[in-house]
Amino acid sequence: MTATLLVPCPHCGGLNRLPHNRLADQPRCGRCKSAVLPDKPFALDDAGFAAQIKGDLPLLLDVWADWCGPCKAFAPIFEQAASRLVGRCRLAKLDSEANQRLAGQLGIRSIPSLILFKDGREIARQSGAMPLPQLLAWLAQHGI
Ligand SMILES: [Zn+2]
Repeated sequence: MTATLLVPCPHCGGLNRLPHNRLADQPRCGRCKSAVLPDKPFALDDAGFAAQIKGDLPLLLDVWADWCGPCKAFAPIFEQAASRLVGRCRLAKLDSEANQRLAGQLGIRSIPSLILFKDGREIARQSGAMPLPQLLAWLAQHGI
């Protein structure tokens, strides 16, 4: 394992170099001072996408919409996953209504959809909500 991880700031997109042994210390962004590893999912949009899939931590994206009942039911599960995976995986949400261009680029056909990115590329995708143990097991299959 490398001694440091490169992690984009969820707020400004600036890349932060974080020592492995400091990941649990709620590191702040060197540029904007926001939390780099929040224990809650952060909102992703069209403009921020390219910056946020970079870095050394995988990114799990929850594509949702306000009118979608299953999406709303899944939201608390996704939040629990975020708090459990701090320092291992970054969790973000994409409002597919507000960001139709990106949702189209990603080929979203149903929501909720979960897309896992690693090293800037999609490595796995899952349609539909799932319980927390199943979500964690799915991520574990992909080394998270
Ligand atoms: Zn920042």
